[in-house]
Amino acid sequence: MELSRKVMQIQPSATLQVSSMAKQMLADGIDVINLGIGEPDYQTPDNIKQAAIESIQNGQSSFYTPATGLPALKQAISHRIEADHGHHFDPQQIVVTDGAKMALFTLFQVILNPDDEVLLPVPYWVSYSEQVKLAGGRPVEVATDHQFRFTVADLEAQRTAKTKALVLNSPQNPSGLVFSRDELTAILDWAVEHDVLVVADEIYEKLLYNGSSFTSVLELGDQHLDHVVLINGVSKAYSMTGWRIGYAAGPKEIMAKMGVVLGHAASNPAAVSQYAAIEAFGGDQSSVAKMRAGFEERLNEWFPLMAALPGFKFPAGKPAGAFYLFPDISEALTLTGYPDSMAFAQAVLQDAHVGIVPGEAFGLAGHVRLSYATDLASLRKAHQRLQKFMDQKI
Ligand code: PLP
Repeated sequence: MELSRKVMQIQPSATLQVSSMAKQMLADGIDVINLGIGEPDYQTPDNIKQAAIESIQNGQSSFYTPATGLPALKQAISHRIEADHGHHFDPQQIVVTDGAKMALFTLFQVILNPDDEVLLPVPYWVSYSEQVKLAGGRPVEVATDHQFRFTVADLEAQRTAKTKALVLNSPQNPSGLVFSRDELTAILDWAVEHDVLVVADEIYEKLLYNGSSFTSVLELGDQHLDHVVLINGVSKAYSMTGWRIGYAAGPKEIMAKMGVVLGHAASNPAAVSQYAAIEAFGGDQSSVAKMRAGFEERLNEWFPLMAALPGFKFPAGKPAGAFYLFPDISEALTLTGYPDSMAFAQAVLQDAHVGIVPGEAFGLAGHVRLSYATDLASLRKAHQRLQKFMDQKI
């Protein structure tokens, strides 16, 4: 049978692929350190687990909820956004989804017509391009400089009559880059001028290190906000990847249509997870600070070790946010003779038993992504293995 042509051009998620290869090796009894995954290793905080348990015990989570989420959860999200960024969203401007991934997926279904273009500054998170294609659109890469920064001129170079949206991910997966207020203002002014929707994925906003400051797109004044959809969720900040709760917030018309699509596609995100998320957004926030401090400690110890590996270069310096390193390994490729970062990542997994993700998955060859969302002992061990790998291959 001929399968959908649209689906046949979609690549499996490379991060999940490496992860599953690493998991298979682990299942085979091989001691793999998997730095390929994009999830915090911390447990979901107890107050959040407790809220979920109570919602089960008192029977609240036994039933369907409204397709776009429980009113109490929308309220909690609205309050959280207002407390953090000083902007008020009405509940009709918020749509709760099965993870931020589903918010993005649904949004692209709603905004794209065949061959509409979505600008993706490189490097970009692996699912954006495939989700755009699944919605019938065309991902268009935007070139960035050696520090992953871009200007309005770079956007303008790719803009056509078909340009519908720009994905802006800050702090960025995979590079940890955080856009400055001035950069954001210039980009948003450009977007409004050319009627381009900015999809602002701020899922790593709580994970900022060494005093780096973060500006949300919501903090630049209301004049841009009819051209902005905010994407966020509980996965990274509250260590809740398995609960699958994310959201989109933005113009009512777009949110209403997302609700229609979700009503047919998913009905609603799991009720028990929504009750947990009410506590995440509305309850005690101290666990977020603790987890952030833990990531910072790991970054500060691990980054200098990794930056000293032969041929591993960090032209943008130590990352400001998220929990990934994204070194330029072109020199390491020259030293070792591997043709590309895909072959390098495979060799590192096979020979050094460390799982990493090739940069091709993020639209940028000659790089690899390593997650430091794992304990320091494993990070130290991974560094030793990589050092040995490089020593042997050079
Ligand atoms: N956006 C970015 C940049 C991500 O890295 C991820 C997860 O890796 C997501 C969105 C999706 O998060 P979730 O679907 O778990 O909420």
